[in-house]
Amino acid sequence: MAVKGAHITPNIEIKPSLFEVLAADSLNSTFYPAIKRIVDVTTAKPTVFGGLVRYYDEFYLVFNSLVQGYYLKQYGGSLAEVFYGLTRQSLRNKTFATKDRNLSFAVLVLVPYAVRKLEKACASWKEDYENAKHVSAHRKLIFRLLPYVQACYESVKLIHYVSYLANVTKNHSPSLRILGLGLSYLSEEEESWSFKDILQGKVRVGTMMSAVLLRWLELSAFFLQFIEWWQTEANVGDLSKLPIPEAPEPDSNAKKYANVCPICLQKHIIPTAVSVSGYVYCYRCIATYLQTESRCPVTKYPATINDLIGIFTGDDV
Ligand SMILES: [Zn+2]
Repeated sequence: MAVKGAHITPNIEIKPSLFEVLAADSLNSTFYPAIKRIVDVTTAKPTVFGGLVRYYDEFYLVFNSLVQGYYLKQYGGSLAEVFYGLTRQSLRNKTFATKDRNLSFAVLVLVPYAVRKLEKACASWKEDYENAKHVSAHRKLIFRLLPYVQACYESVKLIHYVSYLANVTKNHSPSLRILGLGLSYLSEEEESWSFKDILQGKVRVGTMMSAVLLRWLELSAFFLQFIEWWQTEANVGDLSKLPIPEAPEPDSNAKKYANVCPICLQKHIIPTAVSVSGYVYCYRCIATYLQTESRCPVTKYPATINDLIGIFTGDDV
């Protein structure tokens, strides 16, 4: 039976579930905002680490390069993938060659950095454009196209998830499809040693340090999930604390017509405001005026009888 079974076994491929690959993806996207949150909190005094906040993208690029570079070389997957016990494998020959590693590094580290930079540039171009500053035609085109490109990418990603779930494809994401890679379970070959081995010099310091780093990063991953939740909570909290906008500046004529109707120059009878200008008149005065003029008598802003608002100060009761 063993002989018969031997040729069947390699054909049974255990594919990681969609839940696992999604969990790895979502953990991977947690690192950037979570570490940013830590940096923001620890650098509350901007004089000390101000540069870290300003060049956070570059700081994160270096951090991500070191971490992902190490994990790809050592375990053949990103930190998040290894955390969920997954590893990358070429779909053609079931290996993870240097070329696959370098391309994975580019997709995991360099592409997100470039995309973030582009998004920030687009946001600032858009702001300039909205503030009536000069923005070149190709920049305008880029910031207008970006949301559509992102929406397309998200749709393609969703199609990949669905086809992965339906067993149509072996890659769950467009980037892995382009690289010709799939995810599979990491084989349990952890290096283990005892204190005796360390004392006898059997364990290299490098191996030990990398194992310590791995444990630390894995613990941090849990911590980062918590931080993400914390950030979401903080954002929700901030929404209810939006700053109160500045009070409107008084108009130059406001003093002239203080407590009197600008038309009859008497105390208001049934005080009524024109909503487009804020000036208050007697109801009769302004209603008659608007029938012929269709504008606020003081500011000349276009107004109709529908722009009148009754003012109830309690003075006339
Ligand atoms: Zn009046």
